[in-house]
Amino acid sequence: MYDVLIVGGGLAGLTNAVHLSKAGLKVILLEKNDYPKHKVCGEYISNEVLPYLEYLDIYPHRRGAVAIHEFLLSTPKGKVVETTLPLGGFGISRFALDHLLYQKALENGCVLEKTVVESIEFLKDKFKVTTRDGTEYFATFTIGAYGKRSRLDIDLDRKFIQEKTPFLAVKSHYSGAFQEDLVALHNFDGGYCGVSKVEDGLLNVCYLANYNVFKQYRNTEIFQQEVLCQNPHLNDLFSKIKPVFPKPLTISQISFSPKETTTNHIFMSGDSAGMVHPLCGNGMGMAIHSAKILSTLLIQFFDRQTMDRETLESAYTKEWDQTFRKRLLAGRVLNLFLNNDAMLEKGISMLKFFPRLLPLIIKQTHGAKLRLK
Ligand SMILES: Cc1cc2nc3c(=O)[nH]c(=O)nc-3n(C[C@H](O)[C@H](O)[C@H](O)COP(=O)(O)OP(=O)(O)OC[C@H]3O[C@@H](n4cnc5c(N)ncnc54)[C@H](O)[C@@H]3O)c2cc1C
Repeated sequence: MYDVLIVGGGLAGLTNAVHLSKAGLKVILLEKNDYPKHKVCGEYISNEVLPYLEYLDIYPHRRGAVAIHEFLLSTPKGKVVETTLPLGGFGISRFALDHLLYQKALENGCVLEKTVVESIEFLKDKFKVTTRDGTEYFATFTIGAYGKRSRLDIDLDRKFIQEKTPFLAVKSHYSGAFQEDLVALHNFDGGYCGVSKVEDGLLNVCYLANYNVFKQYRNTEIFQQEVLCQNPHLNDLFSKIKPVFPKPLTISQISFSPKETTTNHIFMSGDSAGMVHPLCGNGMGMAIHSAKILSTLLIQFFDRQTMDRETLESAYTKEWDQTFRKRLLAGRVLNLFLNNDAMLEKGISMLKFFPRLLPLIIKQTHGAKLRLK
């Protein structure tokens, strides 16, 4: 019997694993993939979570993370506005960051198994989690950190899973010159493309596109040429860089609908609890921050033995809402704005007149640096 069982070992699952095992709890994490692995992600991460990562003995800059302080936004026609990021961040691949967390979780004594979770059942006061090979695990608490969308959501009858989602995302690493401390967000018809450096001199290019626009083209290569390259900045970029992956990575069915933070007594963490639009560049920060909130509460539960399960669930939901709901809303509003070419063109002209507005808008989608007690 484990104190905590974690389903999914992306950033949220691994951060919970590192934090809870550091505190001496008996933790197991079940992840379906091997480490290290590349993932579709813009790989720009806000400095909001840096002090917390360091508290967990994770040092991204020692692994080659690139400090990023500048932001550039362009419209599909190429109009540009630039600003210094209020908090800044760093670029590191998921290949490297998830692996750092994985190694730390193992070092802290967490059990990590490669397996696919098939079902999660709550049996009065404990969980039974069953994997595809029929193995059963028992734990006092279960954390659902299995990302944006899973078959488990269907079994758990979560509302958002019924909705159709028209987004797909494509990512590749490239070699070639690009301003080291810059994250650029270039818009194109039906989507936007993030560009920033990660470790080892590599460049991350990752875009989110509306499937209804994408499906008119046969593949990512043609889509890139015919649609992304209509933006002169992307056209210029793609003429100067070379992909290092044999093929880009793609994912689809990305949902930004609101979700519940607990379902059938399972604590949801990271994208399983709610996903912010990638244009905010803050999903990784939120996944890590949500793990801090949850791990802190779970450790209090085991230390003090004064809380019951219901109180713990309400405390998590309350703190999650207070911390993230406004950011999710800001992300949705910004997405509507970026999706409307006329509004975007006008908005950028206005931002040129009022340059202090852009950092204020960015602040709506980010939190302050995490303080640690
Ligand atoms: C196009 C795009 C660009 C983005 N760019 C950025 C960015 O630049 N900056 C930023 O901060 N955020 C960005 N994000 C958001 C960020 O990638 C996510 O918020 C973050 O990955 C969430 O981490 P997670 O741990 O919740 O989920 P994930 O990293 O998806 O991890 C979930 C894990 O669960 C595992 N899993 C799933 N089902 C099962 C199962 N049944 N059994 C066992 N294991 C299972 C999966 O294999 C996976 O490893 C972007 C997202 C997208 C889509």
